[in-house]
Amino acid sequence: MAKRDDKREGRLAIVSNRLPVVLKKRGAKWHVESGSGGLVTALLPVLRNRGGLWIGWPGLTAQQAGSGFEQVLADASRHAGYELVPILLSEQEKEGFYLGFSNEIIWPLFHDLHVLCNFDPAYWRIYRDVNEKFAEAIAANCRNEDYIWVHDYHLMIVSRCLRDRGIAAPLAFFLHTPFPPLDIFLKLPWRVEILQGLLSYSLVGLQTLRDRRNLLQCVENLVADATVEGDGEVVNIRFPDRSVRVGVFPISIDFNDFARRASDKAVGKQVKAIRQNLPNRKIMLGVDRLDYTKGIPYRLRAFQNALDRYPDLHGAVSLVQVIVPSRENIPKYSELKTEIDQLVGEINGKYTQEGWIPVHYLFRSLSQTELLAYYRASEIALITPLKDGMNLVAKEYCASTIDENGVLILSEFAGAAGQMQEDALLVNPYDVEGTADAIHDAFVMDLPEKRRRMKNLREGVKGQDIFTWVDGMLRAGIDKELKSFPVLQDYLPQIEIS
Ligand code: UDP
Repeated sequence: MAKRDDKREGRLAIVSNRLPVVLKKRGAKWHVESGSGGLVTALLPVLRNRGGLWIGWPGLTAQQAGSGFEQVLADASRHAGYELVPILLSEQEKEGFYLGFSNEIIWPLFHDLHVLCNFDPAYWRIYRDVNEKFAEAIAANCRNEDYIWVHDYHLMIVSRCLRDRGIAAPLAFFLHTPFPPLDIFLKLPWRVEILQGLLSYSLVGLQTLRDRRNLLQCVENLVADATVEGDGEVVNIRFPDRSVRVGVFPISIDFNDFARRASDKAVGKQVKAIRQNLPNRKIMLGVDRLDYTKGIPYRLRAFQNALDRYPDLHGAVSLVQVIVPSRENIPKYSELKTEIDQLVGEINGKYTQEGWIPVHYLFRSLSQTELLAYYRASEIALITPLKDGMNLVAKEYCASTIDENGVLILSEFAGAAGQMQEDALLVNPYDVEGTADAIHDAFVMDLPEKRRRMKNLREGVKGQDIFTWVDGMLRAGIDKELKSFPVLQDYLPQIEIS
C-alpha cells in the first residue's frame, strides 16, 4: 500500500463482492451497463469527486473475461468517472467462495436457517484465499490516506488479511444481511476467525439494533479482553491496544428519486393498464428475489388461509406475486421454485372463478417502469420475509405510493420493521392465521387510516434515506458528511465499448 501523503486528499475506496457494472459480450463487443441502485447513486458524488475507486468481482471468471478485459474495464472507468478495479475469480473460486461459503453457509446462517447450511471445510479454505486476493488488490490499489469501505458477508476477513500485511489504515465494513443470535452463530465452525475478521475493521456498520445486540453478545462470549463502552448509535469495543466502533446504520433508498419517477407519465399509463387488466378488485403485491429467506410459501399459505376464512375477499382481491429469478442452479432454490409453483396452482385451482384469478404470478424481473407501476397500482404490499437485513422493497413501495392510498403488511423480522413498525401492519411470517388476519385488516381499512399510516411511513423513509445512511458511515469513519461533496449530474449510465 502506498505511503500516507498528508497533502493528498484521501479517496473513497469501495470494496464489494460485485462491481457495480454488468458486463456482457455481444459478438466481439463488450457491453458495459452501470449499476443503477441507490448505493451507486449515493456513493457516486463522493467517488467521482475524490477520484475514488471500486474494487470487486465483475461477475466473470478469468476464462470468460479473456485477454483484453483489463482494457475494457479501464475504458469503462474513464466513462464512469471513478476507477473500476476488477478481481477475476477462477471457476473453482466462484464455486467455493461465492456459491459455497458465501451462499451455502453465511447466507442461510445469518438468516437463522442453519439447517440449510452446508459446512464444507473446503469452502472455508477458498473463502480465506479469496479474501486474501481482495486484500492484495486493496493493498496494490489504495493509499494509506484513502477511506476503505468494505461491503457485506463475502468479505468479512479481508480486514484481517490487510492487518496481517501490516496495514493500519482505517477500514470500514457494512453488513447488509442480519447478524444472527449467539446460539445460531455458535454453530459456525469458523466462528472465531469470522469474529476476529470483523473486529479487525475500525468501524462495523449494521442494519439494526437487533443485529448489533447479536454481534455484541457473540463478542462478549467468544472474544477475550473485549469491553463494550457506550450505548448511543455507535458504541466502542475496546481492546487493550485499540478499539472498534460498531454502529447501527439502516440502509435506505433515494426517496425523492422514487417519488419523482413514480409520478412519470409512462408509469401512470402503465398503472392504468394494470388496473384495467385487474378491474374491480384490490391488488395486493409481493416482490421478491427467489430466495428461501423471503417466506414466499408461508405467504401463499397465509393468502390461502385468508381466502378460506374471509369469503368477502373472493373476487375482491388479487395477489400479484413477482419473483425475480435468482441462484436457480443451487438445488435449494430450484426446490423452492417447485414448491411455489405448486402452491400457486393449488390456490388458483381451488378459488378461481369467472373473471377473477386469486394469484397472478410473474417469474421474471420487471423493468423500472413496470415495478413502479405495480407499486402504485397496489393497495396492499405483502412483505413477509422470514428474516431480512432491511428489505428495500418495503421502502420503495412507500416512496412510490404517491397518492398515499396503500397499506404495508410487513414481517417483524425484516430490518425495515425497526423503522416502520408504528404504521405498517406487522406480522410474524410463520403465523399463517395472523398474517391472513392482517390481509383482511388491510383489505377493510378505511381511507383516512390508510392515508395517515402511509403519510407517516413516507415521511420516515424520506427522513432517513440512502444519503443519511452514507452520511452516517462517513461521519463515523472519517468525520465528513456527504454534503461536503458536490452532486454530479453528468453521469453516463450506459456505455458500449468495442
Ligand atoms: N428489483 C429489481 N427488479 C425487479 C424487482 C425488484 O431490481 O424486477 C429490486 C427492487 O427494486 C429492490 C431489490 O430488487 O431494490 C430487492 O431488494 P431487497 O432489499 O428488498 O431484497 P434483496 O433481494 O436485496 O434480498
